Amino acid sequence: ADEARLVFDNFTDRTASIFHPTLRLGVTGLSRAGKTVFITALVHNLLSGGRLPLFKAQANGRILGADLEEQPDDAVPRFQYEDHIRRIVEERVWPESTRAISELRLTVAFESASSWRRMLPGGRLTIDIVDYPGEWLLDLPLLDKDFTAFSAEALERAQLPSRQKEAGPFLQKLASVDPEAAADEVTARDLSAAFADYLKACRADGSALSTLPPGRFLMPGDLDGSPALTFAPLPVEPGRTYPKGSMAAHLARRYEAYKTVVVKPFFRNHFARLDRQILLVDVLQAINAGPEAVADLETALTDILGCFRPGRSTWLGGFLTRRIDRILVAATKADHLHRESHRRLEAIVRQIVDDAVARAKFSGAKTDMLAMAAVRATREATITDAGEALPVIVGTPAKGETIGKRSFDGQTETAVFPGDLPDDPRRLFDPQNGIEPGSLRFVRFRPPKLQPSTEGLILSLPHIRLDRALEFLLGDRLQ
Ligand code: GDP
Repeated sequence: ADEARLVFDNFTDRTASIFHPTLRLGVTGLSRAGKTVFITALVHNLLSGGRLPLFKAQANGRILGADLEEQPDDAVPRFQYEDHIRRIVEERVWPESTRAISELRLTVAFESASSWRRMLPGGRLTIDIVDYPGEWLLDLPLLDKDFTAFSAEALERAQLPSRQKEAGPFLQKLASVDPEAAADEVTARDLSAAFADYLKACRADGSALSTLPPGRFLMPGDLDGSPALTFAPLPVEPGRTYPKGSMAAHLARRYEAYKTVVVKPFFRNHFARLDRQILLVDVLQAINAGPEAVADLETALTDILGCFRPGRSTWLGGFLTRRIDRILVAATKADHLHRESHRRLEAIVRQIVDDAVARAKFSGAKTDMLAMAAVRATREATITDAGEALPVIVGTPAKGETIGKRSFDGQTETAVFPGDLPDDPRRLFDPQNGIEPGSLRFVRFRPPKLQPSTEGLILSLPHIRLDRALEFLLGDRLQ
């Protein structure tokens, strides 16, 4: 039934696309990677004709107009563009981050690039932007695992020495639970809460361990507290059948429910229908947390990229048409570094992605990567310190930010030397020779004021290479 439904959806999408060319663009990334800011900046730049020299359709004046329209899926929350842009532009604070899936439809009217096609009426491209938490993607591998396999893996990881601090309370609680005892809801709920706390602790500030499934334990969306989310791994023995009514049977049933009512519908209704995908990654945060976090990020990326090309023998691979044809991996918040370091940041992302692509045995879609800032909160300058010229960035730190002993009121600009990235990306993985955790300085700057474009007529949000991202994701469809 799943298969038939998806074939039908794909067929409807494609037939509709013949008459109204439509592109479904997925925007994902782990929590706080910058999804909300990226979508808001993308839409604002298209609606207001922002300065995008590398996005050819816009730079050549072929975009005749862009409008927001009613989205096609009534059951999916709308991406609250108006609220987000108001916060950025008027209040100069960052918008609320992605908590669940949302969608926005944008229609772009354009003039064709080729002269003979220009004689025909202008083209229209409908872009459906689908914003969803990257955490949810990590659930895909669960579809091919039963409760026993899931438990074995989850418990093996929880027992790793590097997770001792985070997993301790959960393992302690687990030790008091007998899988064969009669199931009771209070124990199930407590154990599940302890498991969720452990997963969240692995993602908390300062402990940037990789993200582990189940994804909804980290980002429940609107399912918080529902039975399908009330389970945890148990030390169950492979091949053994546990009596009906036992804790093991109860949690195994919940786990299966999680896959059926949570994971499968997401992949079928949303993920399998995407045409293009941008994956946002906060590489700088991982770099600053040290080599273990960089290695973890690479593992998470391998898992995520693996979702875009699942094997034929897997549940999704069984009917996922070769639909996603372009994937862009973008390191966000490049405005935290001086331009001189952007090339290095890009080399680092390339290294991480190349490794992940090779390990995920990934091929088929065109991939690209870049370092970008969807909204550029800083500008560059050079200051001289003891006769040495230092490349710095200048911005307005958010209220309450401190640098050394100095505390900021949200109104004062300051120059910051963010630190250097290593020239050789390999160094970041090297525990002996890697860069010291915390050696980069990240300040939370306020969003910038709107700035006039070169012609001085239009006010737009400054960015770094947002136009290159748009060219890769949309350019060929606006020819
Ligand atoms: P999401 O969880 O992926 O939706 O992440 P957000 O888009 O909400 O971004 C999380 C935070 O990262 C924001 O509140 C900003 O502080 C910061 N951020 C995101 N994008 C940028 C950017 O382009 N430049 C700067 N300076 N900060 C950004």
